[in-house]
Amino acid sequence: MNDKSPDTTETDQLVLQNPVTRYPKISPPAEKQPGTGSDADLTPKADLGEKSYRGTGRIEGRRALITGGDSGIGAATAIAFAREGADVAITYLEQEQEDADKVVSLVEAAGRRAVAVPGDLRDREFAKTLVEKVVDELGGLDILVNNGGKQVAQNELADIDDEQLEATFDINILAMFRLVRAALPHLEPGATIINTTSVQAYDPSPTLLDYASTKAAINNFTKGLAQSLAPKGIRVNAVAPGPIWTPLQPSGGQLTEDLPEFGHDTALGRAGQPTEVAAVYVFLASPESSYVVGETLNVNGGSATTP
Ligand code: NAD
Ligand code: MG
Repeated sequence: MNDKSPDTTETDQLVLQNPVTRYPKISPPAEKQPGTGSDADLTPKADLGEKSYRGTGRIEGRRALITGGDSGIGAATAIAFAREGADVAITYLEQEQEDADKVVSLVEAAGRRAVAVPGDLRDREFAKTLVEKVVDELGGLDILVNNGGKQVAQNELADIDDEQLEATFDINILAMFRLVRAALPHLEPGATIINTTSVQAYDPSPTLLDYASTKAAINNFTKGLAQSLAPKGIRVNAVAPGPIWTPLQPSGGQLTEDLPEFGHDTALGRAGQPTEVAAVYVFLASPESSYVVGETLNVNGGSATTP
């Protein structure tokens, strides 16, 4: 196994690489990060594509909004979108300011405009004020990535209290409805909506009963919404990641004792890095995927149980 650490990747995503050894098989410490966790404190470091993602102008001039764009998959997508030529707005929670600042500086370093909007997706008014601010600052909206999410592992159903149950559904699926509702009046033909679902939608872990069912709901919502909006020229798709190394996992997304084995049971034998998922969002956002509608693209290192 190579010992290259993810933040020192020297090649970009377009160079021929062995997917088994592109990143090391990580064995994160069995330690819990507080709150929603932070990319800055992640051990080992995740690769958001800072040094590796090379853009080729695939979404030049587009205006994108990514929820949960401060860290993990959303941050890697923000960096990729900016390097592909898009202006990017991200949302995050106030305690994630440090991570959000880093993403803003990377978007700006790519020569694009960045807008960072703190706020809680559980707040019923947030979607409206968010969309107004983004449209005002970026001059419109072409790409909506519903990505912010909550995942808290519990040993059994009895351990999932009402607070966790309601917050998980609120953040993962209800907020998605609200944000699409607020964004729709601004979306023109050619616009795209991309929802982040999960391998958990098909292959639910006994420790993630609430989370996995929100992800199945997201798949269903994606297919139905895609049917509804396709005639208007707006495409809706979803991305279903498998085990990706992000702050979500050590901040309660996995049982702490499971962290050292994270991603080992995939066909590639390792966890994925956020930048490996970002390229799929770029594809779905770009007109090169114009005939891909209502699809869920799996990015999971190889799983025999996903459709
Ligand atoms: P992450 O922690 O980096 O990103 C999730 C983001 O959600 C956080 O940064 C936070 O800003 C946001 N968020 C959480 N609660 C919020 C709230 N109440 N209000 C506003 N924002 C809130 O982790 P990630 O793994 O990149 O997660 C991104 C998406 O990917 C999530 O929808 C997650 O379910 C999904 N996903 C992740 C994996 C994985 O293995 N990491 C696998 C499948 C799906
Ligand atoms: Mg975060």
